[in-house]
Amino acid sequence: MLGFLLARAGVRVTVLEKHADFLRDFRGDTIHPSTLDVVAELGLLEEFLQLPHQQVKQLVGEVYGERIPLADFTHLPTRCRFLVMMPQWDFLDFIARQAMQLPNFTLLQQHEVTALRRRGTQVIGVAAGSRGHQLDIDADLVIGADGRHSIVRRDAGLPVEDFGAPIDVLWFRLAKDANDRDQTAGYIWPGLFFVMIDRGDYWQCAYVIPKGGGDAVRAAGLPALRARLAHRLPFLRDNLESLTDLDQLKLLEVQVNRLTRWHAPGVLCIGDAAHAMSPVGGVGINLAIQDAVAAARILAAPLYARCLSTADLQAVQQRRMFPTRLTQRMQVVVQQQVISRVLRAAGDEAESMPRVPRILRLIQRFPLLGRIPARLIGVGVRPEHIA
Ligand SMILES: Cc1cc2nc3c(=O)[nH]c(=O)nc-3n(C[C@H](O)[C@H](O)[C@H](O)COP(=O)(O)OP(=O)(O)OC[C@H]3O[C@@H](n4cnc5c(N)ncnc54)[C@H](O)[C@@H]3O)c2cc1C
Repeated sequence: MLGFLLARAGVRVTVLEKHADFLRDFRGDTIHPSTLDVVAELGLLEEFLQLPHQQVKQLVGEVYGERIPLADFTHLPTRCRFLVMMPQWDFLDFIARQAMQLPNFTLLQQHEVTALRRRGTQVIGVAAGSRGHQLDIDADLVIGADGRHSIVRRDAGLPVEDFGAPIDVLWFRLAKDANDRDQTAGYIWPGLFFVMIDRGDYWQCAYVIPKGGGDAVRAAGLPALRARLAHRLPFLRDNLESLTDLDQLKLLEVQVNRLTRWHAPGVLCIGDAAHAMSPVGGVGINLAIQDAVAAARILAAPLYARCLSTADLQAVQQRRMFPTRLTQRMQVVVQQQVISRVLRAAGDEAESMPRVPRILRLIQRFPLLGRIPARLIGVGVRPEHIA
C-alpha cells in the first residue's frame, strides 16, 4: 500500500516480494471500515467491492452455549458500516494491480531482500536474491514492510520490546455445507476458544491453544481433536469429516512486540515489521494500512524532492506509536484476561459452567454498548486519511 501511495505522489518506488505471489498463508481476513474509507478516498471502493467477499455487520459470539452480540458496526461514522471478510492476498493483489498501472512503480516478485547495504552508517539500498541470482538495489529510503520476521528490522539493529503472548493458533479449513449457518462467529466453552470465518465455499477456522500447545494437539491425534470439537460444536460433526490429516493444521505462533525506534539513517519499518500484532480483534491489517497512509502523507514530499531527513522518519513513528501502543495494550489484556482464562478453565461436564463475563452480559442487555467494541475494531485508534 505504501508503495502505491508514494508512486501515486510521483516518487519512484520498487517493491520486492519474496514469493511469486503475495503470501497465501493463513493470515488475516478482516478489512475494516477505516481501511475501506482509505480505499474510497482513492476512488477505488466500488471496484474493490466487486471482488468476492462477505460483509459482516455484527460480530456474535457463542459463549457457553449462549449467543451474545459482541460488536455492532451498523452505526459507525464511516462510509461502509461493515467489515469485509476477504483473504488478505486478494486485497494485496488488488492494490498491486492499481500500483502497476503507474509508470514509476515496479513490483519485483520472487525477490528476497537478504541484507541492507550501507555507506558508513547510512543505509543506501538492499541486497536481494532472485532464483539463484544476486542483485543490489539503491534507494534513498528502504522501507521494511516485511512482516513479523523482518530481515530489515533485524539488519538495521532496531531495538525490540517484547510483550509475550500466552497463545498460539492452529488454522485449518473445513468444508462448508449449503445448509450451514452462514455467520462468521466465535465459540467459547471452558477450555475451548474457536473462531469460524465464512470464506464463501469453506470455513477458515482458528483453534486457539495455549502457547507451545501445538505438539500436544498433534500427539493426541486427529480423532481426539475432532471429538473435542464435535462435543462442544455438534453442528460441525459433518464438516469435521473434511479434516483428514494433521498436516492440514497450520501452526501460527502469536507474537506481540514493537520497536522502540522504527528508523535508522536511510531505513524505516512499518506494519508488523515495526509492531507484530496478535490476531485478537483482527486489527493487524488495519494498523499496517494506517501506518502506510500516514507514512505516505509525511514522506511523499521530502522523498520526491530528495531531501528526506531523520526528522521525517521520526515524524512517522511519532504519529503511529500512540495507536500501536494502545491497540497492543488492548490485545494483551484480552489475551491474558479473557482467552487464557477460557483455555485454562476445565472442560469437565460435571463442573458448574463458568459465568458469561460481565462485560458481555452488559452488551447483551444494553445493545448500544456494542457500538464501543465496534468502534475499537472497525475504526481503531487514530484512523488515517489520504489527504
Ligand atoms: C494467526 C494470525 C491471524 C491473524 N488474523 C488477522 C485478521 O483476521 N485480521 C487482521 O487484520 N490481522 C490479522 N493478523 C495480523 C495480520 O496478519 C498482520 O498484522 C498484517 O498482515 C501485517 O501486515 P504487514 O504488511 O506488516 O506484514 P505481512 O502481511 O506479514 O507482509 C509481509 C510481506 O513481506 C514479504 N517478505 C517477508 N520477508 C521478505 C524479504 N526478506 N524480502 C522480500 N519480501 C519479504 C512477505 O512475503 C509478505 O508478503 C493475524 C496474525 C496472525 C499471526
